[in-house]
Amino acid sequence: MRIGYGWDSHEFKKGVPLKIGGVELPHDKGLAGHSDGDVLLHAITDALLGAVAAGDIGGYFPPSDPKWKGADSTIFIQEALKQVRRAGYTIANVDSTLILSEPKIGPHSKTIQARVAKLLGIEPAQVGIKAKTPEGMGTDEAVIAHVAVLLVKARVSRAKKRR
Ligand code: MG
Repeated sequence: MRIGYGWDSHEFKKGVPLKIGGVELPHDKGLAGHSDGDVLLHAITDALLGAVAAGDIGGYFPPSDPKWKGADSTIFIQEALKQVRRAGYTIANVDSTLILSEPKIGPHSKTIQARVAKLLGIEPAQVGIKAKTPEGMGTDEAVIAHVAVLLVKARVSRAKKRR
């Protein structure tokens, strides 16, 4: 078993779409960032990489590289999943907490849960999506994401064992 933890934050910015967990949410501001600013997918990527001690998101996708400008963050998830598979692990579950003043995540949490599960190739019941308001933390102009993941050893297929 391996545990992983990831954290990310992005500042609100006018005139860009708000993407959280691969879902575009209706809001008058999006998140600034070199990529699409998907704070939840970035934190999940780091949690997965951390769980297999495979570095961090910036090591694979440096923000200084113009190649990743406006990049769809699902690319980062795919790389992290590759590293998890390479290390011989599979995801047991993912848990997340978003901290944001707006918009309300509740009405969209099932959609985000389903999308994240699909991206990770697991069931929605394996993905926790929680949200809180900052309550005076002074972070109303940003969205923060915390993510924990648990990995278990992937079962070796029978065909592989026979070899
Ligand atoms: Mg980020």
